[in-house]
Amino acid sequence: MTVEVIEAIAPLRARLDGARRAGSTIGLVPTMGFLHAGHASLIETAAASDDLVVVTSFVNPLQFGAGEDLDRYPSDPVGDERVVATAGGRLLFRPSVAEMYPRPMSTTVSVAALTQVMEGASRPTHFDGVTTVVAKLFSIVGPCRAYFGEKDFQQLTIVRRMTADLSLPVEVVGCPTVREFDGLALSSRNVYLGSDERVAAPVLNRALRTGAGLIADGEHDAATVRAAMRGVIEDEPMARLDYVEVADPDTLEPLDRCDEAARLFGAMRLGRARLIDNIAVAHGLFIAEEVR
Ligand code: AMP
Repeated sequence: MTVEVIEAIAPLRARLDGARRAGSTIGLVPTMGFLHAGHASLIETAAASDDLVVVTSFVNPLQFGAGEDLDRYPSDPVGDERVVATAGGRLLFRPSVAEMYPRPMSTTVSVAALTQVMEGASRPTHFDGVTTVVAKLFSIVGPCRAYFGEKDFQQLTIVRRMTADLSLPVEVVGCPTVREFDGLALSSRNVYLGSDERVAAPVLNRALRTGAGLIADGEHDAATVRAAMRGVIEDEPMARLDYVEVADPDTLEPLDRCDEAARLFGAMRLGRARLIDNIAVAHGLFIAEEVR
């Protein structure tokens, strides 16, 4: 099946309105392009539930801070079309910056809760950019199911909150993280890793698994778990730790005690790449994740 590429808002709206009138359900997979198997799994999940899957590819300038990788973010438009088609996507919405933001935005969608910790603390303007563009995409696409990866668990949680707070006609669906054989979460930014850095990169997931292992063995003190995760990353000379966290999976607030469900988060720099990861732990058990 070939992919229909649409670059402007009006024809996308018309196409989706027509599909809905004909009784089709819409699945939306927002991305920044340079698609990999993680994105493909979201598209496959959408295609299993919805009649018409639209993938959006837009490198959103609003969510990049000064000095971040906006000007060198990788792109492969032809490869993206292949991934979308193979995974069961039908439409690829690929707007220009001028189409999305014909003049400087005067409106910002900002979620107060959930955005001050972890990625929000390290990248202070990031989530306002994300929620503003996602709100705009939800408005353009209309009633749909929207699929987001747990790889960006904080983003998923914030988008869910925004959608509920604003009563947007969208059902947000979270999808498990797809990983390399050695635990590294797939990311478009992994392309920045040199070969030595690629070998070192799984240390982030290893650190989280070390934390999860401690909790599974009965450790209840979150500070001890944090220190152990930090130690694993600090043992890798190439890695520069940003943060590790033991947080409540709903509020994302740091936990003192790991008595109930918890989620472990980490972020680090490795050469030119900034990597993030997270895993679930509950009642002393790892929650099984799909490993590909
Ligand atoms: P991005 O293109 O990096 O903005 O990601 C677009 C969507 O794909 C987001 O919902 C991400 O959470 C999701 N995603 C990215 N990498 C993965 C992965 N390894 N596994 C599952 N979902 C992912």
